[in-house]
Amino acid sequence: MIDQSSMLCAHCQRCGRRSVLGRVDAATLTPPAEGGNAPRLRCDMCGGRQVKLFNAQGPVEMLAFLNGRM
Ligand SMILES: [Zn+2]
Repeated sequence: MIDQSSMLCAHCQRCGRRSVLGRVDAATLTPPAEGGNAPRLRCDMCGGRQVKLFNAQGPVEMLAFLNGRM
């Protein structure tokens, strides 16, 4: 069962862009393509692939992450 209050966030290690991807579900968490354990995500700002995921437990954590406090 998926926690409906969980929001998946991403932090680009290259340009520092922080974004909210949306609710955590099977569509977001695609299985790794070729051996790697990083999801196939790209930064929508710079196209970098060094995107660190953060699973926010509710809106408070999500806002804290977006403000750089997580
Ligand atoms: Zn980026």
